Amino acid sequence: MSSVNTAIQLITREQAEQKALGLAGTAATCSPALARGPWDYDLAEALAGVPAYGPGASSADVAPAATPRQGQLPEEYKKASDAELDARIRAAKATLGDRAVILGHFYQRDEVIEYADFVGDSFQLANAALTRPDAEAIIFCGVHFMAETADILSKPDQAVILPNLAAGCSMADMADIDSVTECWEQLEELYGTEPDADGRVPVIPVTYMNSSAALKGFCGDHGGIVCTSSNAATVLDWAFQRGQRVLFFPDQHLGRNTAKAMGVPMEQMPMWNPRKDLGGNDEQTLLDSRVILWHGFCSVHKRFNVGQIEKARADFPGVNVIVHPECPMEVVDAADSAGSTDFIKKAIAAATEPTTFAIGTEINMVNRLAAEYPQHTIFCLDPVICPCSTMYRIHPGYLAWVLEALVNGETLNRITVDDDVARPARVALERMLAARP
Ligand code: SF4
Repeated sequence: MSSVNTAIQLITREQAEQKALGLAGTAATCSPALARGPWDYDLAEALAGVPAYGPGASSADVAPAATPRQGQLPEEYKKASDAELDARIRAAKATLGDRAVILGHFYQRDEVIEYADFVGDSFQLANAALTRPDAEAIIFCGVHFMAETADILSKPDQAVILPNLAAGCSMADMADIDSVTECWEQLEELYGTEPDADGRVPVIPVTYMNSSAALKGFCGDHGGIVCTSSNAATVLDWAFQRGQRVLFFPDQHLGRNTAKAMGVPMEQMPMWNPRKDLGGNDEQTLLDSRVILWHGFCSVHKRFNVGQIEKARADFPGVNVIVHPECPMEVVDAADSAGSTDFIKKAIAAATEPTTFAIGTEINMVNRLAAEYPQHTIFCLDPVICPCSTMYRIHPGYLAWVLEALVNGETLNRITVDDDVARPARVALERMLAARP
C-alpha cells in the first residue's frame, strides 16, 4: 500500500489532469497544498506575518500569535531528492548511534516513521525516551506539546528536538494559560474554595495530555491532574473522589464522551466558551454542573460523522466501527466502540478471524494498520484523505537537517520547559500515573 503522502501526490496529479479534461476526480484530499513541501507553508507564514497550522483539517483554526514559527529550511534540504534525504538521514543516524533517539507519533507520515526508533502515542513516546537515558538528543517527530512532555520527563542534560517548530496542535492551542486562569478565577468567585462535608473541593482541573506544559503545570499547582485518551475515565474518577466537579480542557469531546459513559447527565456538562463571561453560562448551570467542558476540539477527528458510519455499515455488513474519543459524541454513540490509538491497535490485533474495520482516527495510522494486518480489511471512515496538518509540518528534509546539525555539534530546534512550569507539570503527570481504576 502506498503512503498517505504518495496517495496525496497521485490524487493531486489526477485531479489536475481530470480538471483539464473537464472531469471530476474519483479520490479526494482535503487540501492540494498537502502535496507540496511544508517549507512552502513556512515561507507563506513568514510573508503573511501570521502563523498557521498548515494545509488540511486545521487550516481554518486560528493559530495564536505566539505560535512558534519555523523559519526557512536550508535550500539543500528542500531540493534534495527522496533518495538523497534517505541516504543522509541514515548516515547521520549511524554516526550518532546511541547519542540520538528518534520518536515517531502514530499520526506521522510513513516517510518519517521509517527512521523512528519508537512509534507510539505521545505518552508512550515520552516514556520510551526514558529507556534511553544516555541519549543526548531526543528527536520528537510529533507536535509541540509532545516535545514539551518529553522534556519534562527526560533528564535535564537531554535535548528534546522538534524538527519543525511550526508543528503545533490546534486543539492544544485552543486552551491557553491566560484563558484558563481567567476561567478559574471566575469559578472560584462563584464556588468559593471551601471543601464540602465530604472534603471535596468545589472543582478539580483536568487537562488532556494534548495541552501546553503551562496547563499541565496549572493542574499540578491547583490539585489537578493530566489524562490521556486511554485513562480518561480513571482520571475523572480520581477527580470526582476529590472534587464536586471537574473543569476539563482542552478537548470537549473526550471530556463529554468519557463523562457520559460514566453516567454524567448531559445537562450537567456545560461548555465553557473562553470569550464569554462565565463561559456563556448562567450561575445556576455552573452550580449544578459535574463536568465543565472547555470549548476545544481536534479538527482532524471533527471530520468524522454519523453518515460515514451509516455508509460503512451499508457497504460492508458486519463491519466493526471503532472511533477515537476525540470524535463528536454522536459519532462515538454510532460506533461499535471507541478508544485511544492503543485501544484501536489492540482491538485489531485481537481479531482472530478476517474482519472489516472502519476506523475513525488519523489516516496515517489507519493506513499503517491496514498494511500491518493484510488479513483484515481496514479503512478510514473519512473517504477524503486529510492527515493532521501539524504533523505534516515534519518532513524528512527537516529530520535530515536537525540530525546533520547534531553530527556537526549543533543542537537546533530544542524545546525546553522552564523549571517553574516543569515542576508542577510533573506533579500532575505523577498523579495520573498513580491514579488507579
Ligand atoms: S490529530 Fe488533532 S489533537 Fe492530534 S496533533 Fe493533530 S490537531 Fe492535535
